[in-house]
This record gives sequence, structure tokens and C-alpha cells, in this order.
Amino acid sequence: MTMDKGIVNINAVDRVVVVGGGTAGWMTAAAMSRYFNNGRRKVTVVESDAIGTVGVGEATIPPIKNFNAMLDIPENEFLKATRGTFKLGIEFVNWGQQGDRYFHPFGTYGQDLHGIQFHQLFLREAARGTAGSISDYSMSTVAAALGRFGRPAPGAKSLVSQMAYAFHFDAGLYAAYLRKMAEQQGAGRVEGRIVQVHRNGESGDVTSVELESGVIVEGDLFVDCSGFRGLLIEEALETGYEDWSHWLPMDSALAMPTANVGSPPPFTRATAHTAGWQWRIPLQHRTGNGHVFSSAYMQAEEAERILRDHVEGEPLADPRLLRFTTGMRKKAWNHNVISLGLSAGFIEPLESTSIHLIQNGIARLFALFPEKAISPVERDEYNRGMRELYEDVRDFIILHYKATQRGDSEFWRYVRDMDVPESLARKIELWRLHGRIFRENAELFTMPSWTAVMLGQNIWPERYDPIADTLDEQRVASAMAQMREGYRATAQALPSQEEFLRQSGAWY
Ligand code: FAD
Repeated sequence: MTMDKGIVNINAVDRVVVVGGGTAGWMTAAAMSRYFNNGRRKVTVVESDAIGTVGVGEATIPPIKNFNAMLDIPENEFLKATRGTFKLGIEFVNWGQQGDRYFHPFGTYGQDLHGIQFHQLFLREAARGTAGSISDYSMSTVAAALGRFGRPAPGAKSLVSQMAYAFHFDAGLYAAYLRKMAEQQGAGRVEGRIVQVHRNGESGDVTSVELESGVIVEGDLFVDCSGFRGLLIEEALETGYEDWSHWLPMDSALAMPTANVGSPPPFTRATAHTAGWQWRIPLQHRTGNGHVFSSAYMQAEEAERILRDHVEGEPLADPRLLRFTTGMRKKAWNHNVISLGLSAGFIEPLESTSIHLIQNGIARLFALFPEKAISPVERDEYNRGMRELYEDVRDFIILHYKATQRGDSEFWRYVRDMDVPESLARKIELWRLHGRIFRENAELFTMPSWTAVMLGQNIWPERYDPIADTLDEQRVASAMAQMREGYRATAQALPSQEEFLRQSGAWY
């Protein structure tokens, strides 16, 4: 890269400019610089230290492991560098009714028998009153309840291999880790505030961004990772935003770190309050907390009081207020600008899906990367796929609100009684009748996730699938007893998560 009369010339045929250096920007740059840096293509990140990043986003879901593996990131080194911990799922408190508690685990429930889905066997046994809790049949849930962790060996026969996991990590440290990697792989970085976006008069495509200093960064393809404002996708291209707040009325969050109390547990906790919910994300060196709430039903002062009243450790900083609008950009890819991260849309972090949406967008962009010119068909395919993914995640999040029996505040009465998208209403009805769940499209959340939330929030099917009656009662009962005992004994033999991290050299 050379600088000439204020113009940054990126000496490659394909110049990709990533606008923004938050989690989205550096994930994009790390992935692209690894695969595209063959001398022909060049990736440059433009970020402003003065503007900074959103600084939250610390809980993930299991596919993050694929992203890290794609970049050859050694897991223990990554955990140590980001003060990371393992996440076996999310504990939901007060969601169905006040006082309720359930666990949405990663991984599967039990084992299917003769092709009959485990959850149908469970529903059959539950109807007879002999099943216990669905949580007894999940390796991740049983281990999480004991604070234990073990890394499943690939292909191993142990029940530990049924345990799927993700991470909690310090968002700033993760971005720094990826930045180092991207720069080592040849990605460029330009620091400064973008004050103008230049477009081609004919095509309308973005041609360059201009910094406060007068420096101009030119590109062929721009990835907008500028955060909520959507500097290119919205401010320059006026793509439009689809607002989903009538289904998900949360629009604010207060984030506040606290000191750890004891050893970090291997799961996230989401505790429902009067007009929102609180996250607890345990890291090695501190705990991330936040209260996500709807400003239509609660003032920030009250939200702060509730947050302070419910955190466990000493606050390490004052709460920071963030505002957002739930929804998605009408087109994730418009002209030669692809939006990733918060600039593409936002769904509240109840199931920790935002980083995954970035990761998925990067993978999709790779799969449809333009060679010489942007083909409208490829761009449309990208937009179609991303819309599908966002809408599927949206529906799963709405389920948590719709499937409440709480009526103790205006907020809970509203979400309990609201109309939901037809796609979700159909799913709930299929479950309500015979506990049937069908995976549509390439949906992120599959059978165990829907089962966990439906049962966890007290939606029991009227009847289980009659196909479950074809199996011998005694056989099923004894197989299920064996499963319960297997998970219990396996979990008890595991070390605590802190012991595991220390033994692995992953403790900071
Ligand atoms: P940002 O972090 O905002 O980065 C924007 C970048 O653009 C910055 O580098 C900034 O300097 C740069 N920039 C902006 N304007 C300019 C300009 N004019 N000139 C130059 N540079 C500019 N996700 C999860 O997966 N799990 C979670 O648990 C989770 N929790 C969340 C909780 C809350 C309350 C919120 C709001 C989000 C949460 N997220 C979570 C989402 C997650 O934080 C984001 O997806 C992730 O951090 C990506 O953000 P980003 O990189 O798109 O934006």
C-alpha cells in the first residue's frame, strides 16, 4: 500500500476495504487475508480509535469453533489470550413463570431408539410420569449443573462426545487477537475517522472513503462493519431497515462488568425481569453483566437499579447504555457494499447469535465472492440466504417471549398476547399437537433447542407422536434409565471448568 498526495493506493487487482475494526471487521479481515492474500487481492481495514467499538458481544454458540478452526486458531492459546471460558448452554431463569429455571444446552438430548426421536420417547415416558426432567438426558446440562467440563475427543465413544460447547470471551481481546493475525497475514490497517463516502456517478457503487485527514482509501468491494450506524450501507446507500420491534420490543441495554465470585461456571445465565432480562457471562478474569430492556416499558434509571441489585460481584465500572433497533437491513448486500455485524441488523443477544451471523455472512460471502464484476444473481442469493437466517433466528428469539405464562407486568402481557410471525405460529402449533419439530431451510436452531425452550417454558404437547408407542415399554424405560445414569456418572468424573482450563494451559 502506498500513500500518494493523500490517496491510499492498494496495489492489487481486487481491493477489499473493510470499514470498521470491531468484532465484525477483524473477523472479516482475518478470514479474507488468509484466503485472498495471494498477491491479487488486498484487504484493508479502516477503523477509528476515537469512535471505538461497541465493546460487548462475549457469548457465542458452537459454530464459532468452525470459524476458529478455519483460521487454525489453537483453542487453548485462544482461550488464554481472550480470558475465555467454555459455554455449555444458557440457563434461563423466570421465563415461563417467575421462579422457573431451565437450561438450553448445546449438543443433543439422549439417544434415538430404532429411528424414533429421543424427545418423543421422553414425552411418552413423561406422560407416564417416569421420565424425570429433560435436563437429565443432556450431557451438557448435567455437566453445567456441576460446573464441570471435558473436551469431547473427536470420534470417541464416551458420552462426553455428546457435549457441544462454545466460548465466552473478552470481545476486545478477541478483536485484538484477530487483528494481529490479519496483519500478519498481510491485511492493511488505516486509522482515522471516515467523513465522506464517494460513489461512482453512473453505477452508484462506492468507490472510496475519505478520512478526516484527507486520506482517501479506494476499493472495489466494501464490507461495512461500521456498527449500528451503517456508514456505507445506510448513510451512503440508504438501503433501508426492516424494524422488528413490534415482536421484539427490547431497544436498550446497560452493560456492566463485575468481579468474579468464585470459579466461573461453564454457562451463560439469562434472568428475566419486569421488562427485559439480564445476562451473566463468566470469563476467567471478570463477569460480564447486562440488562436488556424495553424503553417503552422501563426507564434507564430503573433498569440500572435492577441490574445493580442483581449482579453478584463488585462492579468494576459504571453501566454503559446502548440503544438499538431490532431488525435487519432490507438488503445485506447493496451495490458493492456488504454489511456485516451490527450494520447488517441486530437481534437481541438472548441466544448469543450476533457473532454467528457475522461468521455466517463471511462464509456466504466467500461462497459467492465476485470474480471480476458483481453478478446480481450472486448478490440476490446472498441476500436471500441472509434474510432466511435472520428470520429463523428472530422466530426462535420471539418464542422465548411468546411462550411465557407471565402476566405480572404490562411488558409480559404484551409479549404473551402478541401475534407472532406465521412461520413461528406454525412451529408452535406443530409442537403443541404432537411434539413435532421440522427443520426448515438451513435453520440454525434444531430439535434440541426447540425442545429445550418449549418444555422449559411449559409448553407440553397434547400428545406425543403415536409412533413412539411402537417400542416396547420396558426397553424404553430401561434405556432411558441407563442414559440418565450414564450422563450423571460421566459428568461427575469430569474436572471443574477452572481445573480443566488450568490443566490445559488455557488459564491466563
Ligand atoms: P462495532 O463494535 O460497533 O464496530 C464498529 C467499528 O466501526 C469500530 O471499529 C468503529 O471505530 C468503526 N467506525 C464506525 N464509524 C466509523 C467512521 N466514521 N470512521 C471510521 N471507523 C468507523 N453478540 C454475540 O454474539 N453474543 C453476545 O453475547 C452479544 N451480546 C451483545 C449485547 C449487546 C447489548 C449488544 C448491543 C450486542 C451484543 N452482541 C452480541 C453483538 C456483538 O456485540 C456485535 O455483533 C459485535 O460486537 C460486532 O460489532 P461490529 O463490529 O459490527 O460493530
